[in-house]
Amino acid sequence: MRAFVYNGLPTRVVFGIGCVGNLPAEAERLGAKRVLVVSTPGRAEMVRAVSSSLNVAGVFDKAVMHAPLEAVNEARDLANSVKADCCVVIGGGSTIGFGKAIALTSGLPILAVPTTYSGSEMTNIWGLSEGGAKKTGRDPRVMPKTVIYDPGLTLELPAAISAASGMNAIAHCVEALYAHDGNPIISLMAEEGIRALASALPKIISSPRDLEARSSALYGSWLAGATIGTTSVALHHKLCHVLGGFGLPHAQTHSIVLPHAVRYNRDAAPEAMARIKQAIDASDAPGGLHDLEKKLGIPMRLADIGMKEMDLERAARIASEAPYPNPRKVEYEPVLALLRDAYRGLRPAA
Ligand code: NAD
Repeated sequence: MRAFVYNGLPTRVVFGIGCVGNLPAEAERLGAKRVLVVSTPGRAEMVRAVSSSLNVAGVFDKAVMHAPLEAVNEARDLANSVKADCCVVIGGGSTIGFGKAIALTSGLPILAVPTTYSGSEMTNIWGLSEGGAKKTGRDPRVMPKTVIYDPGLTLELPAAISAASGMNAIAHCVEALYAHDGNPIISLMAEEGIRALASALPKIISSPRDLEARSSALYGSWLAGATIGTTSVALHHKLCHVLGGFGLPHAQTHSIVLPHAVRYNRDAAPEAMARIKQAIDASDAPGGLHDLEKKLGIPMRLADIGMKEMDLERAARIASEAPYPNPRKVEYEPVLALLRDAYRGLRPAA
């Protein structure tokens, strides 16, 4: 066994159907007397109901994707003006992103109640966008102190968003398996995360209110977030960040690129491939991931989510000029070939 470093991140996790009822007790545990509640506009009503027994000092219900600085500053001003002492974020990665942006400058503790599979609640990674460019970084202040996972809150997450968000979580696990700073503990979590999500997502597509499948998917997304929280991402995430700069939607971009990024790394990361194959019960990791996505009925081609063919070369250049550490050397020509395959939605060759 090679030498490794394992760095566990300290978050209290409360998991179970109905456990959002513990929200007031968990807030009290953090000493919260004046809570700022954060949500997206679409989830504001549900969030008001869930947080009705908290000591709410203010509500910010205008969270949007990618935390644009102007909107973030509005949320930070509100947190200041109501003298919030805790930030309760209820929603997906976008909502959690706003809580992190507030915590980054104020140090307010975050209590997160995730309702998608983004996994952001288990990471110390923040992101802010300004003038079309996104800046990200890691900071211990943005790590939620407590996370409440209640599968009941995910029952209404539309099937298409569930599938793409779940594949985004699988992508976190996949890259943790071949991360240059990975370790055997994270690999256990990553393989288990892929297994839980890959078995749950098809059931969620056919019956979105299947609580058992919803529980399994949320469990998988917790593991996925925990893996990405302590290991570095590689070519797949780099490509998705670059494509995000072309205005492509986050979770769908992840799901489309994933089989092709895995194909790129297949021969350079045999142990990771063996774990992926086991977890999805397939004879070939990239092909198996492609087949899983096909079953979920999500977009399979970058062409379908707004990518322009003429931008593929520019994207390949940006991705290969400043690559993240990756099992296989990142080079322009093969990266361009990968993006062309993803643009057309081809099944990766066995
Ligand atoms: P999202 O948070 O934007 O949510 C998508 C939509 O689903 C929103 O309209 C939201 O209101 C709605 N929604 C959320 N939960 C719902 C539910 N239970 N029922 C019905 N509707 C619901 O999407 P996302 O994919 O969760 O998050 C994407 C963002 O998260 C991106 O900005 C990405 O960069 C960020 N992210 C950050 C990290 C990190 O570690 N910092 C990790 C993953 C993703």
